[in-house]
Amino acid sequence: MVLLLFTRVGSKISVGAYCAISIAKLTNTYTEALFDKTAEWIISCQTYEGGFGGCPGMEAHGGYAFCALASLALLNKTSLCDMDALLRWCVNRQMALEGGFQGRTNKLVDGCYSFWQGAAFPIISLILSQESKEMIETVFFNQSALQEYIMICCQAVEGGLVDKPGKYRDIYHTCYTLSGLSILNNIHLRKLLTCLVQKRIKLCTRGKGEFSCN
Ligand SMILES: [Zn+2]
Repeated sequence: MVLLLFTRVGSKISVGAYCAISIAKLTNTYTEALFDKTAEWIISCQTYEGGFGGCPGMEAHGGYAFCALASLALLNKTSLCDMDALLRWCVNRQMALEGGFQGRTNKLVDGCYSFWQGAAFPIISLILSQESKEMIETVFFNQSALQEYIMICCQAVEGGLVDKPGKYRDIYHTCYTLSGLSILNNIHLRKLLTCLVQKRIKLCTRGKGEFSCN
């Protein structure tokens, strides 16, 4: 039902689905009937590259890939996803020279994908850790390189952050570069959140900023 609505208004489906699922979960109005076949539709957006497009046949894109993956996680349907292909696509979006992420194959690096690509990795780690526990500790991208790109290349002299050097600062890129910076600098917090999600809350504080989850 929700899918039909977003299709009719012409929205990019993976974004619309993510918004709808998030709102339904947050407002406690989620039902399985409301999102019947939504996961299957999202999976039809996974491309031959391994990422997700906004709708079937569309090019894989970092923003849509995050929305699709997060949606599948919220729906508890990540088993439908070709996770190896998605992970391969995600890791290849980090640029060897710049250190930041591109949003699509053969595009230039862009600071906002520090979040859109970067935020997919903790979710992938969580999913893979269900098969292999040590995966939760595995970071699949170069944190230092991404941090250097954000700190050195994305900070505007007047304040705020940019897509890449030479671009104007704006609120969107300031928000998402900082969000990416937060992800790469909060491994301990990620562990804590993961434990909470898995409902295996056994937390002991060993020292400043350190958590132990069993
Ligand atoms: Zn951007």
